[in-house]
Amino acid sequence: MAVDLKNFRYEELSAYLESIGEKSYRARQIMQWIYQKKVKDLSEISNISNDLKTKLKASCEISTLKIVTCLASRDGSQKFLFELSDGKTVETVYMPTEDRATLCISTQVGCRMGCTFCLTAKQGLVRQLSPSEMVNQVMEVGSRVDRRMTNIVLMGMGEPLDNYESVLTALEILQSKWGLNFSQRRITLSTVGLVPAMERLGKVSSVNLAISLNAATDEKRSQIMPLNRKYRIKDIIEAAKRYPLKSGRRITFEYVMLAGLNDTDEDARQFAKLLGELRCKVNLIPFNDHHQGPYRRPSEERIAAFQKILVDRHITAPVRYSRGEDILAACGQLASRGLRVEKSSPSS
Ligand code: SAH
Repeated sequence: MAVDLKNFRYEELSAYLESIGEKSYRARQIMQWIYQKKVKDLSEISNISNDLKTKLKASCEISTLKIVTCLASRDGSQKFLFELSDGKTVETVYMPTEDRATLCISTQVGCRMGCTFCLTAKQGLVRQLSPSEMVNQVMEVGSRVDRRMTNIVLMGMGEPLDNYESVLTALEILQSKWGLNFSQRRITLSTVGLVPAMERLGKVSSVNLAISLNAATDEKRSQIMPLNRKYRIKDIIEAAKRYPLKSGRRITFEYVMLAGLNDTDEDARQFAKLLGELRCKVNLIPFNDHHQGPYRRPSEERIAAFQKILVDRHITAPVRYSRGEDILAACGQLASRGLRVEKSSPSS
């Protein structure tokens, strides 16, 4: 099988070029052609020798991803369903607002974290995505929408830290000057709280970190997030305290609000207490009803009362209504159901 050049980190491409008897500095040129000029075929590269081109063509490819459907939501967001080379599918959601254009990308097909309220979890882990499959979500959508992408969030299907190496390669490509050149400030990785991987990440990357806490006591959290039996809330909060934050940055805690389960005043007080003096903010995400389980979204009054308790304690806690609910693109609804809905063109 051909080697996908989009799976390489810079150092890896240099080493690969050396291994086929070429100069390693060619790596930069090749990377720039792929990520900046966005060529899809090696023959489009004009400043490398024919000899090298022939060699590369014999063993390498520049991969792309196939869009199967694109659904446009009333709120302006668009959900793309991609087909991978083995026929599996993943979803990517584009969410424009006045001041930014954010892309939510998937990192795995399915997920093995087993959160009981999340639709993706119901598939289990089907397989890991390769770096190129993550980067290509950004490139393909980028070439189809009419605005420059400003932010990337790793909050689609999958647990990014459960696909650590490939996610790190993808992050390098997204952030490098020779790559897609996104600032680290504009990339956010969201995790259920895989503590050892969070620690590793903090040492090598400065992307924004979001942690899906979703409950304020171990008893409740274990009920909805099985991983909590391994990494307790205390472990996660301590890891968050140790996480090296650049100045002016904060950790984000996501909190999916489930009626009657984690939305009481007492939950809010316990949550605020946990956060203490941590440099953080909270995103309150009202549960998106997918009607495949016992959970429901709390009332507006309940959400507001919960929020007020946090805000009164000086915690920034916006309520984040998910985008694209009408196209099942909202958080936790990404389960490749797009194949079953009517096809529509990217411009619709
Ligand atoms: N696995 C990572 C990345 C996925 S992010 C993580 O969990 O952080 C997906 C976010 O959507 C998580 O915060 C998750 O708790 C939330 N979520 C999942 N299902 C949801 C639903 N039905 N309604 C609202 N939020 C949901």
